[in-house]
Amino acid sequence: MMLSLAGKKLGVGLQVFKGNLDNETELKEFCAQCDRITYENEHLPTGALKRTLLSEDQLFPKLPILEIVRDRIQQKEFLHQLGLPLAPFVTVLSERELMAKAMSLGLPGIFKTSRLGYDGKGQLRVDRPSDLPRVWKILGEVPLVYEKQVFFQRELSLIACRNAQGQTVFYPLGENTHCGGILNHTQVPAPRWELRLQALAETYAENIFRAWAYEGVLALELFQVGDELLINEIASRVHNTGHWTLEAAETSQFENHLRAGLGFPLGNSRALGFSAMFNLIGELPDVRAIQEKLPGAAIHLYGKEARPGRKLGHLTLMAPSELLLEKQKQLLQPLLR
Ligand code: AMP
Repeated sequence: MMLSLAGKKLGVGLQVFKGNLDNETELKEFCAQCDRITYENEHLPTGALKRTLLSEDQLFPKLPILEIVRDRIQQKEFLHQLGLPLAPFVTVLSERELMAKAMSLGLPGIFKTSRLGYDGKGQLRVDRPSDLPRVWKILGEVPLVYEKQVFFQRELSLIACRNAQGQTVFYPLGENTHCGGILNHTQVPAPRWELRLQALAETYAENIFRAWAYEGVLALELFQVGDELLINEIASRVHNTGHWTLEAAETSQFENHLRAGLGFPLGNSRALGFSAMFNLIGELPDVRAIQEKLPGAAIHLYGKEARPGRKLGHLTLMAPSELLLEKQKQLLQPLLR
């Protein structure tokens, strides 16, 4: 929805694939109608796309990038080869090796399925060796990554964008708060924002951009540990922690993603003051009450059926100072069920 609205603004004729991803005939028909194609979810059938895309270049970010990013094992190995700092990890490809591999890294830690995980799904935290025998079955008997638990100060994210001409823009670092593995809110700039941290995160993104001759938005989820930043994961698409850019940045991540893929110059990524984006999860709050108390809140409802853990919309608060933003957050808190 948000990419479509950005496409309208740029005068781009944007079509959304509404068919069945497992139906190659439908995919082929869709690909034949498009100059370029992008995605807002990496869980796509890359084998079928390889056969149905008109060329490797039709998709942005490119198909080989999607293949690596959508698979945690490949993603971590790629980032590790680039020399970027990650939480210590091992790969677990069979039940037989699970116990020894986990014990070699140490507990506590988190098992994550290599594919199809999101919003904390496909993950299991393990504190004691006696928890280990159950892990393989619970997570569905599929390849896993086991990561050592990181005792981080906070979670940050960087939204970056590059076009084919090599122009790059970086949005200010945001601080993310998760509840039950799902992003609850993102505040930008991250409280106690420092140029040093921003520059460090940007060097990580630049490394990845160079390795891939990247086109589009790239999101980096980071753990801050002291002065260090570890990469938790990356996404080759527009990202939930960049939704604040719709109102609170000069150019939104959605517009810049399309600009990058269509060869337009990128727009300025400057933040327009201080902002906090809250996801509306599981059940919608009383939107009218929020509008009355916080008339400046930008509310986006996705028109989805309510379901526990489902993202039904988001809202962004904006203020000219961190203190005034804090006051708005306090007004909002009791209104979010
Ligand atoms: P992920 O799906 O990998 O983004 O994980 C979801 C959330 O789980 C993260 O945002 C963190 O809050 C937490 N998490 C994931 N991996 C680790 C780790 N190695 N150490 C501590 N917390 C983690």
